[in-house]
Parts: sequence; structure tokens; C-alpha cells
Amino acid sequence: MSADQGCLFCKIIAQQIPAKTVYEDQLAIAFEDINPQAPVHVLIVPRKHIPDISSMTDKDRELVGHLFWVAAKLASENGLIGGGYRMVINNGREAGQTVFHIHLHLLGGRVFAWPPG
Ligand code: AMP
Ligand code: ZN
Repeated sequence: MSADQGCLFCKIIAQQIPAKTVYEDQLAIAFEDINPQAPVHVLIVPRKHIPDISSMTDKDRELVGHLFWVAAKLASENGLIGGGYRMVINNGREAGQTVFHIHLHLLGGRVFAWPPG
């Protein structure tokens, strides 16, 4: 599995930095965001280092789809189905991306405004 030595999330995947992992499988892991923006705030991260959505290749399509499958599973486990939940990918600096390894934010447990800030 490709890893980027300078990447925070690759270090979490390699267990060089601790995280509160809530799910893992062969393709992805999910852990609690260190600075939660909602009662439930989990990051769903592919094990493969892909810097952003624009860097995806054709081969990554199922992998990125898998992140949404994990989000739905965790939303169900956290009792978020009735009220709803938000999934966010900040892609690129001006969109708020700070960690350049694709990750899907799963947020729930409160009401969200639209449009986003
Ligand atoms: P983004 O700004 O969309 O790239 O999201 C990066 C997210 O990673 C932010 O919500 C941060 O709070 C979160 N984060 C940064 N460092 C850690 C860490 N060590 N463990 C868990 N989450 C982190
Ligand atoms: Zn990485």
C-alpha cells in the first residue's frame, strides 16, 4: 500500500500517531476527528495515499465509493439515520482542505446550516 512519509493520515494508518479508530477494513479506516465540529465527527480515510479527489485515477473509483459505504454504516451505528447527517470532502486549499490525503468527513448529531461557510 503506497504511503507518503510526510502525510499525517498515512502516519495514523501506520499507527505511528494514535487515533480513536472506530472502523477499519482492508481498504479504509475511520477515526474520530481531533477537533470535532458536531457530536459525531468521524474521518473516513482510504489506506491508499491519494492527495485529493483531482488525483484519483480510474482505478480509485470503487475505493472512493467505498468511503461512502463506510459513512452510511457508521451513520447507522451512531443512530443518525432518522435525523440525517452530513458528509463533506474539502478538496483543495480554498475549500478548506488541510490534510492532503483524501478523507470523507461524517458529521451528525446536530442541525446543519446551508450554505456552508
Ligand atoms: P480537512 O481540513 O478537510 O483537510 O480536514 C482535516 C481534519 O483532520 C480536520 O477536521 C482536523 O481536525 C483533523 N485532524 C487533524 N489532525 C488530526 C489527528 N491527529 N487526529 C484526528 N483528526 C485530525
Ligand atoms: Zn497519506
